[in-house]
Amino acid sequence: MTWIACELHTHTLHSDGRQTLRELAEGAAKLGFGAIALTDHNTMSGLAGKADIEREFGLTIIPGMEWTTFYGHMVTIGLSEFADWRQAGRSDIDRGIAEVHRLGGIAGLAHPFRIGSPACTGCFWEYEVGDWNAVDYVEVWSGTFPSIKTDNRRAFGLWTDKLNEGYRIAATSGRDWHAQEETDEPVSVTYLEIEDEGGESGAASAASPDSGAAEPSRFGAETQPEEVGRGASSAAALAETRLIEALRQGRVSVTIGPLLTMALESGGELWSVGSSVPARVSARAASAAPTSDVPASVGSQGEEAADSVEAAAIRVKLSLDFSVRRGLWTLDDQVFKLKLHSNLGEELSLDAPFKAARPEEVGVGAAESRKALLERGALPAAPGVGTAEEPLRLDLEAELPTPAADSPRSWLRAELWGTARGAYTRIAFTNAVYFEHEEGKNRL
Ligand SMILES: [Zn+2]
Ligand SMILES: [Zn+2]
Repeated sequence: MTWIACELHTHTLHSDGRQTLRELAEGAAKLGFGAIALTDHNTMSGLAGKADIEREFGLTIIPGMEWTTFYGHMVTIGLSEFADWRQAGRSDIDRGIAEVHRLGGIAGLAHPFRIGSPACTGCFWEYEVGDWNAVDYVEVWSGTFPSIKTDNRRAFGLWTDKLNEGYRIAATSGRDWHAQEETDEPVSVTYLEIEDEGGESGAASAASPDSGAAEPSRFGAETQPEEVGRGASSAAALAETRLIEALRQGRVSVTIGPLLTMALESGGELWSVGSSVPARVSARAASAAPTSDVPASVGSQGEEAADSVEAAAIRVKLSLDFSVRRGLWTLDDQVFKLKLHSNLGEELSLDAPFKAARPEEVGVGAAESRKALLERGALPAAPGVGTAEEPLRLDLEAELPTPAADSPRSWLRAELWGTARGAYTRIAFTNAVYFEHEEGKNRL
């Protein structure tokens, strides 16, 4: 599996952008993106020349469109052809989403709480969603330095509410990128985890029932030049299909800095974000011997008595990769907080010290961080920051607390908190891992 840096919300001259597709692709490549989605307002005509531009900049361009209406903006990507957005009334957006799915695409709420009329007509989401299961993702971060903005905090809250209600919805960032302008603000990146070529699916997938609709197909001849569609070349179509599938399944991590990833492990099985821990494992962990007198985050290696508890427990493996898009973002050296959030609230908070590795200090950081983590009861699973092999990676491992029997955990995500540009804020977050339960408590 490989994480691809994506920008999923962009515009060109074909709507209200002030850049050509070529200029956009060039800018995206300079910022270290491996893929972009072109989401012009109500048109897909900006995709002309896509195949050549992809080759020139080594970038995947996912066809998309932003449905732009009085009742809200909806980003749709991965469509095989133009979906008619004009039919969607305020109370039948579900029909529109179904049409997007029928055409092999996925749909997300764009900047749902951005101020609406008269500043930006329809920017505020007012559609009445009948079935939240149909919504593939919510763009919880919009614009640059998104985590500090009030409307994005509300969008993040909406996503959390829907997870708490039992829906499985992905969360992304989107710059809503209109022009090649310099910015001092942190740029956010949506990382999508794609399957390697010829590789099989990793953890149990949370694919929605309609995931079979992602077959590459061509644009309708009347609406778009044939060359711009998915399937224009088989390699490009495959890349698009993999990215769309990753987002559909919630294999997503969003950041303004390092790449944060999370996997859960129990009894030798592994689940990554977007996948579901089966009911038998959730139940086994819940019935494990009480661990309340054992520090939750300390592994009890070598202690015979703890073996059965160890086998039943769920361990969380967190990883911070500071080497991604090197030189294209900066954060001060600091002790970050790695937090685990679920429907039960904040479950764990671990210190994650980061010191940008400088050649003369290689090795020192590792010793320091390891000592600090040991003192705080969190054991790095592998040598941390500053080793020769992995100079900019920090791995942490902890045991998940056992939830009370009457309040099962239904989802879990990781968040990285720290200081950026003087503000204490979310730096990164993963999408959720879900937990199945026998009674189906977490499913609607
Ligand atoms: Zn918009
Ligand atoms: Zn837009």
